[in-house]
Amino acid sequence: MRYSQLFGKTTKNAPADAESVNAKLLTQGGFVLKQMAGVYNYLPLGLRVLTKIQNIIREEMNTAGAQEILMPALTQEENYDTTGRSNLEILFHLEGAGGSKFVLNQSHEEVVTPLVQTYSFSYRDLPVAVYQIQNKFRNEPRAKSGLLRGREFNMKDLYSFHTSEEDLNTFYEKMQGVYFNVYQRLGLGERVVLAFASGGSFSRYSHEFQALSDVGEDTIFLCKKCNVAVNKEIIDEHNFCPQCNNVDLVPKKAIEVGNIFKLMTRFSEAFGFKYTDAAGKVQPVIMGCYGLGPSRIMGTLVEIFHDDKGIVWPETVAPFKVHLVVLGADVEVAEAAEKLYVELKKKMVEVLFDDREKASAGEKLSDADLIGIPYRILVSKKTLAEKSAELKERTGAAARLVPLSRVAGELS
Ligand code: ATP
Ligand code: MG
Repeated sequence: MRYSQLFGKTTKNAPADAESVNAKLLTQGGFVLKQMAGVYNYLPLGLRVLTKIQNIIREEMNTAGAQEILMPALTQEENYDTTGRSNLEILFHLEGAGGSKFVLNQSHEEVVTPLVQTYSFSYRDLPVAVYQIQNKFRNEPRAKSGLLRGREFNMKDLYSFHTSEEDLNTFYEKMQGVYFNVYQRLGLGERVVLAFASGGSFSRYSHEFQALSDVGEDTIFLCKKCNVAVNKEIIDEHNFCPQCNNVDLVPKKAIEVGNIFKLMTRFSEAFGFKYTDAAGKVQPVIMGCYGLGPSRIMGTLVEIFHDDKGIVWPETVAPFKVHLVVLGADVEVAEAAEKLYVELKKKMVEVLFDDREKASAGEKLSDADLIGIPYRILVSKKTLAEKSAELKERTGAAARLVPLSRVAGELS
């Protein structure tokens, strides 16, 4: 992609109401633009990052045997009456033609339960796990912190349906490992800890995946030995490590980046979703749900990976792998950079080419730091004199000269 043609530009001005580092840097870098509190436009750079996060999640869910579907955002309110959740404060209500009542889904138990019920009758149809990656709508009273807490935000939500609690438990434990694979690939591996949280009225615990960060809204109590934590809600009744019983727990700020829950029969019962077992007996279906927030993760990555110059994207989610910068107006230099751009693209390397003629060297370099692409290649009169380009990693390692003939090979 040529920067000169990219829709969405960097800006020096921090948005006046940018309440957080992620909102500020993502707006300045030309990744997102705020529509209103808690609602964002994703520009090409931002959408590339979001899509990469989603694709990592998608791959891991598919590997775990779940199947992707897409459910509607808009649903009849009646389904929420069935589960007794139409009065949820965060639910957005709409009125349709003729007074019909709709809601914008804040989660999809009210859609997925009757959907799976339509196709599942006997033990032979179960277990089944379906998921989607879609926007959710919540009337959050405090929509702030950029992408961390949206009124419209992106979620991967997976639902599993089982014939027994044991089968749910096996799948639930497997999903914990799957979630850690996701965070590992997103560059958050060392940051995310499992936190035990209240399980509601049906199960002892639910589990949160909490990314340690000082800007986090949540407080968790961490066992330094086991690296698991207890959520604030249950610390009063459970002030010791669930794994090793250590009572020396340390409070930490964290961002919740995932949440898994054993729903048991909470929703299947409401919809009368039962199956026939091998002996011909009718039994309730046992459910689990597994949420993960791609847009919140995008904000979290910026909160954790930035310096005073801008974002430092982990390579797996960076909008491009390489930021190619040409400096000066020299024709030979421009030609060498152009050649490198073509060569990199041929080798399938994702490259953003800052080919702007009017921008100064200083502007180009500070924009590259702000946007935060992992590898910066610089072609200038000085590097060309050495038949080389300068390669620098955004993580701060020293720049070095690489012969032009070897650059594309080294980065592919
Ligand atoms: P929180 O406790 O932060 O309000 P939650 O427990 O209500 O979140 P879930 O319903 O479990 O969240 O949603 C699953 C995942 O979706 C969360 O772990 C988080 O990553 C993401 N998420 C939830 N609410 C928001 C929001 N308002 N904006 C962005 N992401 C969100
Ligand atoms: Mg939560």
